[in-house]
Amino acid sequence: MTENVVIIGSGPAAHTAAIYAARANLTPVIFEGFMAGGVAAGGQLTTTTDVENFPGFPDGIMGPDLCERFRAQSVRFGTRIFSETVNKVDLSKRPFRFESDEQQGEAKTLIIATGATAKRDDVPGTRDNELWQKGVSACAVCDGALPVFRNKPLFVIGGGDSAMEEAGFLTKFASKVYLVHRRDELRASKIMQDRARANPKIEWLLSHHVLKVEGQGTVQSVTVRDLKTDKERAIDAAGLFFAIGHIPNTAFLGGQLATDDQGYVITTPGTTQTSVAGVFAAGDVQDKKWRQAITAAGTGCMAALEAEHFLGTH
Ligand code: NAP
Repeated sequence: MTENVVIIGSGPAAHTAAIYAARANLTPVIFEGFMAGGVAAGGQLTTTTDVENFPGFPDGIMGPDLCERFRAQSVRFGTRIFSETVNKVDLSKRPFRFESDEQQGEAKTLIIATGATAKRDDVPGTRDNELWQKGVSACAVCDGALPVFRNKPLFVIGGGDSAMEEAGFLTKFASKVYLVHRRDELRASKIMQDRARANPKIEWLLSHHVLKVEGQGTVQSVTVRDLKTDKERAIDAAGLFFAIGHIPNTAFLGGQLATDDQGYVITTPGTTQTSVAGVFAAGDVQDKKWRQAITAAGTGCMAALEAEHFLGTH
């Protein structure tokens, strides 16, 4: 059987696409993956705690609970969900072919919503069974406003626009923010650098490396090494945020869609149309700038409406 709409992904983009497609009687299928991209189904939201900026939840909601609600809403309208990872697609002709862990199939339209994975460095103390999500995070916008970080020193690692932006964001809550970068030169755009440099709450640790993070159940201290002098020092801190980039989850596409030099799927501006007619991309897999649950949901909605239109005209 050839499916109308196959959605690959499990976060807000995927489920919003499913809700719209299902309500349009397109009987969508979601392949939510099994630990795809290194995280549980639900995507990056599953790695965060309190979500306070998703409209409709004035008291906030835990990231995994929000994912569960997205999923329940998809199922309510008849979406079929497989907890399998799609490993391969053939986009050379329609219907498109796909292969998951356990099955092969065909789809008239595809919505790619596989997201991106925040990069983390393997610093002792920051691993999953250590202080990850106990003061160590890869998303300042998601976690920065938590009470545990208020009026405390925090660390950000990175030298790109994300690091500048996240450090600036965190100064709203933190007593100060140490910005650690492995070189003297920043990769960030001049305007973002200038803004960060003008912020008196940011202390720069250029040509520095974070050696370890320590604490009992929560972050208490971060040890850095000056890469020029080899001097080490431990600094009191309540949190550490990686801002060292993301990797879009596009490897399974095998280069069949146009991507930018970092692997993000290119969509026609103002649409979710990719370089292959009938294949749409939504959420972080095509967005390296905004990366919010709500913007992902918005593009998921667009993708479903565009898929519906495509099916009606082809
Ligand atoms: P990025 O530009 O790739 O920068 C990543 C930074 O992390 C670099 O400074 C890099 O160091 C450092 N880094 C990478 N791996 C590391 C490691 N293992 N240990 C320590 N440091 C490491 O990523 P990004 O800042 O997330 O930005 C991604 C894209 O989104 C960019 O195109 C950016 O312009 C855009 N963006 C735009 C905005 C905005 O306009 N408001 C905001 C955020 C992001 P090196 O420099 O030494 O390689």
